[in-house]
Amino acid sequence: MSKSPTKYLFVTGGVTSSLGKGIISASLGKLLTSRGYSVTIQKLDPYINIDPGTMNPYEHGECFVTNDGAETDLDLGHYERFLDNETSQANNVTTGRIYQTVINKERKGDYLGKTVQIIPHITDEIKRRIKILGETGKFDFVITEIGGTVGDIEALPYVEAVRQLKWELEGNALFIHLTLVPYLAAAGELKTKPTQHSVKTLLESGIQPDVLVCRTEHPLNSDIKRKVARFCNVERDAVIESMDASTIYEVPLLMQKEGLDKVVLRKLGLEDNTEVKLEQWCDFLEGLQNPKQNITIGLVGKYVELQDAYKSISEAIIHAGVKNSCKVKVNWIHSEEINENNVEEKLTGLSGVLVAPGFGDRGIEGKISTIKYVRENNIPFFGICLGMQSAVIEYARNILGLKDANSTEMNKNTSHPVIDIMEEQKEVIDKGGTMRLGSYDCSISTESEAYNSYKNTNISERHRHRFEFNNKYKTDFKNSGLIATGINTKNDLVEIVEIPTHPWFVGVQFHPEYKSTVSNPHPLFIRFINACIQHKK
Ligand code: GLN
Repeated sequence: MSKSPTKYLFVTGGVTSSLGKGIISASLGKLLTSRGYSVTIQKLDPYINIDPGTMNPYEHGECFVTNDGAETDLDLGHYERFLDNETSQANNVTTGRIYQTVINKERKGDYLGKTVQIIPHITDEIKRRIKILGETGKFDFVITEIGGTVGDIEALPYVEAVRQLKWELEGNALFIHLTLVPYLAAAGELKTKPTQHSVKTLLESGIQPDVLVCRTEHPLNSDIKRKVARFCNVERDAVIESMDASTIYEVPLLMQKEGLDKVVLRKLGLEDNTEVKLEQWCDFLEGLQNPKQNITIGLVGKYVELQDAYKSISEAIIHAGVKNSCKVKVNWIHSEEINENNVEEKLTGLSGVLVAPGFGDRGIEGKISTIKYVRENNIPFFGICLGMQSAVIEYARNILGLKDANSTEMNKNTSHPVIDIMEEQKEVIDKGGTMRLGSYDCSISTESEAYNSYKNTNISERHRHRFEFNNKYKTDFKNSGLIATGINTKNDLVEIVEIPTHPWFVGVQFHPEYKSTVSNPHPLFIRFINACIQHKK
């Protein structure tokens, strides 16, 4: 299959943002991979930040981290969870990155003599970034999702770049446009005009969409589909209905039913002699929709008003729940609202508690009170990154008796810096892309809950942090029952801590949530949910 040239699918959006281009791209990717094609999905983000790593989660939601250490848009998380293949630096491109490359080249003198302009220099750089993935020779399909909405000023260079590419790629490219068909209750009708206008906007930029995916709350009858086809110059079977689904994991099946993959293959002249194989996916969905039991766990963090800030964690919980035939309800609890006096009330009825990653001292004392309570009451606990660091601080204060113990992130002058800035971070001044990022190895001791989960002594997990367990206190912790069970042996960094006398108390410096997929739910999440189920019993 990989003999024929890589096909490029460009996904644009119109009418409004948040129509779910990421999920549609991931679902189409899933259908194509299930037919045996190799697929990667790329996101182009029209903002000027180099990456979302410097953005507040309230602005942007979660920052997803790839194996090679890119801080990226959360849609890349969906791509990995659906396709079960890893993304990389090349899969997320921002306007900031494009301009930075072009300006650096200009300073080096690469354009000597020329005026550097949006067209052709910026658009050429965009095209180069899109083609990088295809040129690896690894993919039959590169799906490129263009962030934002057509007509946005920021999106113009991207739209122009893909317009040019369509011709350069000679039949190996296709445009998929996602729009909204709203239902007007007063008129009792679905309205196609916004879609027509949105296609018109694309046409003004010289792009005729090949396929329209219409997001809708009500089924599109054949009259409406015919109308959209006629007024938007697309074939009738290229008007795809995308009904609101009860879970994102249903969308690949809805797209299959609508024939999105078939129309894409036909329009690219690919023989449709492959078969969609989604048995495993359907089993997962079946498990998700028919759980055998229910539990409620708490997620304690400071961005709980915006659940997108913890996207990968909530998806990893869903995956692990299905693996345990269990529906896991998550109570989102604001760490700033918890204190020693109300912690019991805040956590009543929970079968387990996960303390989330984070930065800065807002809400940290609430996390520490939470951990003291779950530790003393034998409630399953899973701490991720700052959640793990908070567990170390809590243990130092309340078991080692180091009342002033803290992370130097929260208090530079603490007399007991049980969490401290990493040596290589001390000289770092720039904030962007300078944390300890991406995959690092970790060795696990066999006598541990981590080993019981991974069934392996050597693992690799993704990171995003500057602070770290302070090894000066390691023996003290060990002697009083908090054990470092996972270590990066290269630089002796503690990656996992556990309390073996507790039913399930695991803190990890890394982010296991980034590696949980539908086909491969994460072993630590599976064991944690299992411990929560046992606790409920
Ligand atoms: N703020 C902490 C650090 O930088 C934890 C980071 C995180 O939770 N991702 O080490």
